[in-house]
Amino acid sequence: MAHDEVVRLEDVWAHYDGVPVLEGVSLSVERDDFLGIIGPNGGGKTTLLKVILGLIKPSRGMVSVLGKTPERSRKNIGYVPQVNLFDPDFPISVWNVVLMGRYGRVGPLRWYGKKDRERAQRALQTVGMLDHKDRQIGKLSGGEQQRVFIARALVSEPRLLLLDEPTASVDPAMQTEFYELLEGLKQRMAIVLVSHDITAVSIYVDKIACLNGQLFYHGSKEIGVEVLEATYKCPVQMIAHGTVPHRVLMEH
Ligand code: ADP
Repeated sequence: MAHDEVVRLEDVWAHYDGVPVLEGVSLSVERDDFLGIIGPNGGGKTTLLKVILGLIKPSRGMVSVLGKTPERSRKNIGYVPQVNLFDPDFPISVWNVVLMGRYGRVGPLRWYGKKDRERAQRALQTVGMLDHKDRQIGKLSGGEQQRVFIARALVSEPRLLLLDEPTASVDPAMQTEFYELLEGLKQRMAIVLVSHDITAVSIYVDKIACLNGQLFYHGSKEIGVEVLEATYKCPVQMIAHGTVPHRVLMEH
């Protein structure tokens, strides 16, 4: 395994009730990577993240995270699941949501200590939400809640950050800010972001893969028209006409 390799998948297959969802996926993510995986809804993106987390066992193939099994490396992975915004009246503070991210690391008494609180404070500072720590989570905007969920993933000091459709509930005006936050984080950890939203992802990531059962990955941002069409099963004009920056697409 390469020294800087954070994730390695070799010929990974996953099935639900006998139906293949991942079909021979091979992928390598290195320490400095900011990888975007795009693909249509139902293409297997969430399943892939769960395989990397060790929450779903592949039916075939090899998965390694930081040179170990996903289960053994899970405490080094920060995971931001697809956001379901909190009910405005749900009685939990920002501070407690973030502390929950330390749960896998707290001692045998399951009581948060000084170190946990320091980490929570630092994570909230990183995402610019420390001033909001005593507010009720549900009273925040979608973009603010998203930042809190990222802080929650950061308190475990991950070496790999996985984000599932992170901009789904962030209004367009806040998306730039959100990606700037990730830009800062990528100095400290590998980031894998999955989304069906090709435009949002393509500007900021360093590498792009396309997933629709099979994964098409060339280790760069250059995606051919054929790959995009094969992934989305429709012509590129329908996917991204006039919206995807051309530096992402090869000649078409
Ligand atoms: P994406 O994140 O790209 O939308 P998913 O990985 O969530 O794709 O889902 C891929 C396919 O697997 C979809 O057809 C979905 O309906 C199916 N699927 C996902 N989770 C389950 C499950 N727990 N049981 C059965 N089928 C599932």
